[in-house]
Amino acid sequence: NDEKLYCMGCGAQIQTEDKDKPGYVQASTLKKYLEDDGTDEEKELFCKRCFRLRNYNEITDVDVSDDDFLKLLDSISDEDALVVNVVDIFDYEGSVIPGLQRFVGDKKILVVGNKVDLLPNSVNQNRLLNWLQQKSKENGIKSVDQIMVSAVKGTNVDKLMDMIEKYRDGKDVYVVGTTNTGKSTLINRIISARTDVKDLITTSRFPGTTLDQIDIPLDDGHNLIDTPGIIHRYQLAHFLNANDLKTVTPKKPLRPATFQLRDEQTIFVAGLARFDFLNERTNATFYVTQGLPLHRTKTSNADEFYEKHLGDILTPPTDVTEFPKFKSQIFSAHEKSDIVIYGLGWLTIPAGTKVKAYVPDGVRVSIRNAII
Ligand code: GDP
Repeated sequence: NDEKLYCMGCGAQIQTEDKDKPGYVQASTLKKYLEDDGTDEEKELFCKRCFRLRNYNEITDVDVSDDDFLKLLDSISDEDALVVNVVDIFDYEGSVIPGLQRFVGDKKILVVGNKVDLLPNSVNQNRLLNWLQQKSKENGIKSVDQIMVSAVKGTNVDKLMDMIEKYRDGKDVYVVGTTNTGKSTLINRIISARTDVKDLITTSRFPGTTLDQIDIPLDDGHNLIDTPGIIHRYQLAHFLNANDLKTVTPKKPLRPATFQLRDEQTIFVAGLARFDFLNERTNATFYVTQGLPLHRTKTSNADEFYEKHLGDILTPPTDVTEFPKFKSQIFSAHEKSDIVIYGLGWLTIPAGTKVKAYVPDGVRVSIRNAII
C-alpha cells in the first residue's frame, strides 16, 4: 500500500527518514498506525513535532528552509487569492513576516492579531487595531483590514469569518504565519465552526500542490488553505526546555507590574533577562507571564547575583548548563515605548528613559512604540 500519508496536525507528508525534516515519525509509530484496523476516521497520525506540540507544548525545530517558504509564498503570488496573515499579539516582533507583501505580490492581506485574550481587559480595542495597522505598514504590509481574535477563547472568530467572506471576492484564501502564532488553533476553530470533527480529519488528508498544506473547502468550490508555519529561530522558546517554555508562556491576561526605579537599579525577569536603569528616576511596567519572578537588585551587585542565583531564585531556566550567556544593548525611549524580548513579553517605559537590556545571546530584543 503506497498511499501517501499526511500529518493531521500540520499537513506535512509523513516520512521516517530524516528527523529534522517536516513530517517525521519513528518507523515503529508508522508501523503501529498501519497495523491499526480502525477506520481512517478513527485513526490519528501526527508527525513527531505536532505530537510533541500537542502533548507537551514543546517546540522542536524543523528544517523548513527559507527557500521552501519563499517558494510557497511565490506560488501564492501566482494565485488570485486573499492572504490571511496570523500574528501573535504577545510576540508580534517574533511572528511578523517582514516583506510578506513583496513575496505575495498585489494580493490583499488581512492581518489577524491572535491571542488578544492575553492583554489586560483595560486595553482599548481601537487603539490596538490602529497599532496593528501601523505595525503592518512599518513591515511593508498594506493590510486591507485587521482584526483581533482569540483562537483559544473563540473571540471574534465569527467576525473574522465574515471578514474573510467579504474580502475574498469568491476566491481562495491562504492562511500564513510563523509557528506558534496559534494558526492551527485558529484553523481548527474555523473548521469546527463550519463542519463536524469527522470532516477535520478528512480535510487534513488533502495534499497541497506546492508544499504540504491543508485545504478546507469553502461553500463555492474555493478553499481555505493552511500553509506550513515558518520558524523564527531567535525566539526565546528555542532556548528553553518544555517545562520552562510552559512556565514562560502566558495562559491568563498579563497583569502589569510597575516599579519605581532609581539610577543603578536592576531588574531581573527570572534568569531570562536583565534591565539596568540608567536614569536618576523613572518607572517601568512589566508585561510578562503572571508568577514569573521579577527581582530587583543594585546594579553594582547584579553580576554577582546572577552568577550565584541563576537556576534558583532566578528561574527559569531550570537547566543552566546550556543556557546562553547574556549580551547587552542600550535603548533610549524618545516616546513612551516597549522594550520587547521575543517570546517573553515586554516592559513599558516613559519617554526619556534609558535602559541597558540583557538577553541570552541569540534571542532578539527590540524597542517599539508602546502597544498599551
Ligand atoms: P501554530 O504553530 O501557529 O499552528 O500555533 P498553535 O495553534 O499550535 O498554538 C501555539 C501555542 O499558542 C499553543 O500553546 C496554543 O495553546 C497557544 N494559543 C493559540 N491560540 C491562542 C490564543 O488565542 N490565546 C492564547 N492565550 N494562546 C493561544
